[in-house]
Amino acid sequence: MTEETWGRVRAALLKRVGRSSYNRWIEPLQFREMRDGVARFAVPTSFFRDWVSRNFADQIRQQMIVAGVDVVRLEFTVDPPPPAANLAEQPPVAACPAGAARPPEDADHPGAAPDARYTFDTFVVGKPNELAHAAARRVAEGGPVTFNPLFLYGGVGLGKTHLMHAIAHEIRERRPGDRVLYLSAERFMYRFVQALRDKQIMSFKELFRSVDVLMVDDVQFIAGKDSTQEEFFHTFNALVDQNKQIVISADCAPGEIKGLEERIRSRLQCGLVVDLHPTDYELRLGILQSKVEMFRAQSGGLKIAPGVIEFMALRITSNVRVLEGAIQRLFAFASLVGREITLDLTQDCLADILRQSDRKVTIDEILRKVAEHYNIRLSDMVGPKRTRTIARPRQVAMYLAKQLTPRSLPEIGRRFGGRDHTTILHGVKKIEELMATDSQLADDIALLRRALEA
Ligand code: ADP
Ligand code: MG
Repeated sequence: MTEETWGRVRAALLKRVGRSSYNRWIEPLQFREMRDGVARFAVPTSFFRDWVSRNFADQIRQQMIVAGVDVVRLEFTVDPPPPAANLAEQPPVAACPAGAARPPEDADHPGAAPDARYTFDTFVVGKPNELAHAAARRVAEGGPVTFNPLFLYGGVGLGKTHLMHAIAHEIRERRPGDRVLYLSAERFMYRFVQALRDKQIMSFKELFRSVDVLMVDDVQFIAGKDSTQEEFFHTFNALVDQNKQIVISADCAPGEIKGLEERIRSRLQCGLVVDLHPTDYELRLGILQSKVEMFRAQSGGLKIAPGVIEFMALRITSNVRVLEGAIQRLFAFASLVGREITLDLTQDCLADILRQSDRKVTIDEILRKVAEHYNIRLSDMVGPKRTRTIARPRQVAMYLAKQLTPRSLPEIGRRFGGRDHTTILHGVKKIEELMATDSQLADDIALLRRALEA
């Protein structure tokens, strides 16, 4: 494998594992050689070696294969970097995984402040997130535990982490004596493995069983990680038994998390499960307006031409994180150019983001995804068969095509094996009708929509 290929593999891994895992666990890997299907890497410590081979080896290997490398196995050898040589470039945690560069949520510092920006005050409520918001508020207000756990799910950048931090803030204000512990599932696993290594499992258990509110973010991360799941399950049960509040987030519904143990799944489902829907135009507008106000309050003198905010809300639809990045960039730009931000300037400044948002879902993708989801043949999707098991998914695809693409009914009809536009209209109507009463179908469609829009 050349350095260049390894570079590409790393870029792909960055996308998959996220920036913080990447910095901590992938970046420090030093590729040494590739022989007889074995890829060798040098790592700084034995703990690092165990952690990476346990949690990232599969993904690394997979990405190498995708990049065309003929790899059967990975081998990690401990080879600490020479002292003082390039320590400055090393992330501090690499040489000392238990070390200083901890995210603020760390369990060692139960008093550490959650992110100050993420409060209920700064959370803009709209139709897509009102239920999740209301449930989070209820939990934060305390009182008798009515639903346990609160399970929040939704695609990336829709506000799960924000809401969890907001709960932590609110509880801290209302009941300063309560112990609130927020951490990511990845962090939970990391601490668990560390406790195993250091033979500190008792104090690990104690720590997690002594909190009043436990919040675990992105729980899908522990799917497939057997001993961590096991420990999570016990922690969970112990807290529920003591009537302590638990809040969990994930990127999909409990039933959809692959590799999650059945008993955990059913436990997660027995509280309140609410999802954050993709944003709609109004919510995006609301978020942008609140950001503009915040920015004005901070620095004053920001001139934005009429229509710019509306334009952004219309065009940047992927998620709130992207929207935030866009408005921040625009502010920076505004303070540089020192004049009114017009539509033209906006289009220049945000060209790359706008281009990405232009990615439209195609009817082909819809057909493929729906066929896959219902496990039927692609040819049957557009073919003549009229049995229910095929006709229903076909109608689902028609509905999604109408919702997610700008195509007209006759155009959609042509792509569905030359059907008449009235057939398409009938299918769309049928699904709209069924969704109102058939929650399984509504869930299926929400899932498909998320997958297609991702
Ligand atoms: P998730 O955890 O679901 O991936 P985050 O909670 O990290 O998403 O949200 C991504 C960014 O978008 C954060 O900066 C957050 O403050 C912001 N955000 C998301 N939803 C809202 C909202 N309804 N109002 C204001 N900001 C939001
Ligand atoms: Mg998050």
